[in-house]
Amino acid sequence: MSLTNRILTAMVAGILLGSLLNLLLQSAAMSGQIQIFLQEYLVDGLLDMVGRIFIASLKLLVVPLVLVSLICGASSLGDSARMGPIAVKTLCFYLATTAIAVSFALIFAVMIGPGENVQMAGQAEFQAAEPPPLVEVLVNIFPDNPIRAMADGKMLQIIVFALLLGYAISHAGEPGKRIAAFFRDMESVVMRMVGILMGLAPYGVFALLAKLFSTLGISAIADLAAYFFTVLIALLFHALVVYSLLFKSFSGLSPRIMITKMRSVWAFAFSTASSGATLPITLRTVERKLGVHNSVAGFTVPLGATINMDGTAIMQGVATVFIAQVYGVDLSVSAFITVILTATLASIGTAAVPGVGLVTLALVLGQAGLPVEGIALIIGVDRLLDMVRTAVNVTGDATVSVIVAKSENQFDESVFLNPRADIDQTDEAEPVVAVV
Ligand code: ASP
Repeated sequence: MSLTNRILTAMVAGILLGSLLNLLLQSAAMSGQIQIFLQEYLVDGLLDMVGRIFIASLKLLVVPLVLVSLICGASSLGDSARMGPIAVKTLCFYLATTAIAVSFALIFAVMIGPGENVQMAGQAEFQAAEPPPLVEVLVNIFPDNPIRAMADGKMLQIIVFALLLGYAISHAGEPGKRIAAFFRDMESVVMRMVGILMGLAPYGVFALLAKLFSTLGISAIADLAAYFFTVLIALLFHALVVYSLLFKSFSGLSPRIMITKMRSVWAFAFSTASSGATLPITLRTVERKLGVHNSVAGFTVPLGATINMDGTAIMQGVATVFIAQVYGVDLSVSAFITVILTATLASIGTAAVPGVGLVTLALVLGQAGLPVEGIALIIGVDRLLDMVRTAVNVTGDATVSVIVAKSENQFDESVFLNPRADIDQTDEAEPVVAVV
């Protein structure tokens, strides 16, 4: 079986085992001792441990990978004067796709009306965090200490540092060439590490999903079914229809191939609910399966994982309408425009880790004049939606990367069209993992 199929099988098996455990742990017919054993040793013991090791091993790769691939990319583009236009184009695409995502989310939410006739207002309490001032946010993009930025995993600061270093390398003559060759070698080595750790994915994905589904309250979904399915429909529409149309019209390539090649990235995003943890896999897939040259992918993918969150913005759009309906507030046209703008900006400020979309939702609600406590109403189903919206977030990064790379001639179509691209490398890595 190919690695992708093994990951997908592990995903289904994890969901099934988790759901079974959920039933067993709640069943009155089951002996209390067996339940304690399952909970303590299996769910909170083995599954929790394997899942956490898997996430740690993915996160471990993020900083080295972003740093070296961005340095390689910037150093190879540095003297071609294309860095600026690529950055501007990428930013425009990221912002535009997010604005489109919220707009459709609002349309779906208004059409479906998930919060109409729901009696929940006043039930909940929620303490919103104080957002940092805009000036601070902007100043914080620039690192005063690159080592601290890396230690703290501050992605935008790492991006700024790597871009500067890469640019300097491309303008430093002979010494620059030697350093560039070193970073290119490092990039291959770190990519190899990604390949090796991908071999662990079936176990990691299985453990994460089994643990999660063993605790997931499916009954919460029943209470919030209208909200849950509205978000889900909007997410699927964006991932399958909007991206495909954009992809086809801007790159002329087949969206079907893109979707097929993104399956393993989706499995990672879905099980970790973190675009940050998925970043190594997104980057490897975008470069080695979709054919985007490192000079573009090294910049667009880490930037996208940090600031481009279409799935998150969709959830925020639907949640705003839902909360307005529950509290009986009529949203004006200007409130809708405010929601589009703030959700687009909030998605930039949303960290690429689980659950943060719900925190930045406070910003959107505040701007739209809605009670922030409304967030507490939707917390119950957020984790499952987080998993799906993270998959949408990473799809947006990959889609924009291909579009930008194609328009800049930094794209290898033969890799894109080759159904076996990168399969050989990842499979090669498996025996090593078996020994580990
Ligand atoms: N979990 C999302 C991500 O990492 C962010 C969020 O919506 O909470 O992309």
